[in-house]
Amino acid sequence: MENSSHVVILPFPAQGHVIPLMELSHCLVEHGFKITFVNTDFNHRRILSALSEKGDLCRGINMVSIPDGLGPGEDRNDLGRLTEGFTVVMPGHLEKLIREINDAEGESCKIKWMVADANMGWSFAVAKKMGIRAVSFWPPSAALLAFMLRIPKFIEDGVLDERGLPKRKETIQLSPGMVPIETTEFSWNHIGDPKGQPIIFQLILQNNQATELADVIICNSFHEIEPATFALHPNILPIGPLMADQKFEKPIGHFWQEDMTCLHWLNEQPNNSVVYVAFGSFTVFDRIQLEELAHGLELTEQPFLWVVRADFTDGSSNEWLEGFRTRVKGQGMIVSWSPQQQVLAHPSIACFISHCGWNSTMEGVRNGVPFLCWPYFTDQFLNQSYICNSWRIGFKLTPDERGIISRERIKEKVEELLADEELKARACLWRDIAHRSINEGGSSYENFKKFVNIISQDH
Ligand code: UDP
Repeated sequence: MENSSHVVILPFPAQGHVIPLMELSHCLVEHGFKITFVNTDFNHRRILSALSEKGDLCRGINMVSIPDGLGPGEDRNDLGRLTEGFTVVMPGHLEKLIREINDAEGESCKIKWMVADANMGWSFAVAKKMGIRAVSFWPPSAALLAFMLRIPKFIEDGVLDERGLPKRKETIQLSPGMVPIETTEFSWNHIGDPKGQPIIFQLILQNNQATELADVIICNSFHEIEPATFALHPNILPIGPLMADQKFEKPIGHFWQEDMTCLHWLNEQPNNSVVYVAFGSFTVFDRIQLEELAHGLELTEQPFLWVVRADFTDGSSNEWLEGFRTRVKGQGMIVSWSPQQQVLAHPSIACFISHCGWNSTMEGVRNGVPFLCWPYFTDQFLNQSYICNSWRIGFKLTPDERGIISRERIKEKVEELLADEELKARACLWRDIAHRSINEGGSSYENFKKFVNIISQDH
């Protein structure tokens, strides 16, 4: 389909937000749109440096950047501080950027639409001011958005206090069939550092309001996997699970360089044998838990591929980990960042020990891979509930009385998971449903067409 519209795309500045919006950008380029993708300067540099080996593969996507308001050495994993920083400086920079682009472009190539992360709600006011129409993109589960939109009612009903903290412990289900969650597991109360909680809670309340300025809300989910949520919120259009292309050739904005050697290693492993272990881009482990996990993987006697990012620990285990790496050489491989989508699509993969970030969840579902759930923060407890209670394609890894997930527990759960044929069959069923949804005639395919029609409209 040919189209000359110019769309500006704005992710929240984190890995799990940049990736799905880059995937969406590639899909839009295929439909003839011209894309300007706005990262923070900090993330822009990381992406270009991780890409350097591959050269300029961002064809059709103009990668630009603006400041995030933080100093060079500040911690971008501190979500409270990051939010404080970008909400102050980014609106002005985004406005200036759009003005400059529109001044430089001919009439037919001016930016008429913005697709912005719903977590960057401030940007919808900028779009409105600039006469640009906006689409709100919601990267996590639709259920999470439904819970967030319900916050005022939770406060009114005495489930939450004014600060978003639970007043009592109970299981909440918004409607029959919707995923249940404990009041103690709401995402805004699990953001790592409790200091940031009030900032993130306020951001959510502001974003709930700001999203009303968007013409449409799209999300990286599919109708069949969250039907009760979409029944409750028919205005949310699921277009996922997103992926850039079947051959994994398009860059999707990795912050770290992917270690492609693990794909060769996977080729040498028997089908359906490898335990893949990865905890996304934020999770950190302390030394005791890291070593316990390592021992647990060794005890399974299964081949394993484990992602240990350079910032996964405080560094005190580095030497120990090197010794472990040498000892398990015949059994396991450790990499610092994997091409995860290719890994999960590989026939050697048997299961996924995951922190249950929504992207990882969708990627596992799309490939029919059973999960062992090890949530770390934010919405990962909700995603765990989906995996274990609703779709029943995984088990929880629960900590013992010391708060540790022990090596014995890991071995026992991996064995239990790999022996469960019914669970594997359900995972394959969800894989097939996901594929039907994105293929011609499927629900996400049709929703994507609807979305393209909307943003093809002139004002
Ligand atoms: N990812 C990857 N290689 C890795 C680990 C993660 O490519 O070694 C990707 C993964 O495929 C997913 C994203 O990073 O697309 C992580 O997003 P998710 O929502 O799962 O977790 P977050 O990083 O936001 O906690």
